[in-house]
Amino acid sequence: MALDAAQVQQLAKEFESKSAQEILKWAIDRYGKKIGLASSFGAEDVVLIDMMANIDKEKAHVFTLETGRLNQETYDVMDDVRARYGIKVEAYFPDQKEVEDMIRGKGMNLMYESVENRKLCCEIRKVHPLNRALANLDGWITGLRRDQAATRGDTKKIEIDAGHRGIIKLNPIADWTSDMVWDYIKKNNVPYNKLHDMGYPSIGCEPCTRAVQQGEDPRAGRWWWENAASKECGLHFDPMKRK
Ligand code: SF4
Repeated sequence: MALDAAQVQQLAKEFESKSAQEILKWAIDRYGKKIGLASSFGAEDVVLIDMMANIDKEKAHVFTLETGRLNQETYDVMDDVRARYGIKVEAYFPDQKEVEDMIRGKGMNLMYESVENRKLCCEIRKVHPLNRALANLDGWITGLRRDQAATRGDTKKIEIDAGHRGIIKLNPIADWTSDMVWDYIKKNNVPYNKLHDMGYPSIGCEPCTRAVQQGEDPRAGRWWWENAASKECGLHFDPMKRK
């Protein structure tokens, strides 16, 4: 079942000319529930959920990282997705003791004090739960797009995730633009996070995400007090690329 580096490289070439639906069908046929979409319920994720539900509602596997600091609008769209597609969303919570120790030592708003503190919070609330979610999977699916950030420009549609036991990481809409995402949502009447209507192009935790102005970088509202080079939460860290 596992793919080696040469096979993944070959598939990456083939997938460049395939549609997101074709790639997702390949993944669901091959891995079934052993591959799951990591959803933060932003626009890209609801597109992928819609596609997966249309391919096979029973096998569509969606999980989310419930950091404990999400916006109400994000919980609302989770319920909208459950109602529309009948999909159960698996929520992975952070370890209670890790959160308690962090808050007792550094306070609720530690993320604003230093990049180190912010990364600690992301590590405990996002990275560790992701590791748990991926522990029994052969692969995961993301809504990463190349034009979202400088750090994402070389995203392949299929990669080996060296940070997670070499499982497959699938990015079926890596080559999509934001306009393509929104065309799909409107055309298919897909439920979406209402924060997008309030100027949030990117969805994250409530204390670390804000609306952006017209023309601003789409990720300018994430960890807006930091410089662009540090703006990742560690979920997509690749130890082979050191970023
Ligand atoms: S995005 Fe902010 S609140 Fe969420 S885990 Fe990271 S630092 Fe913590």
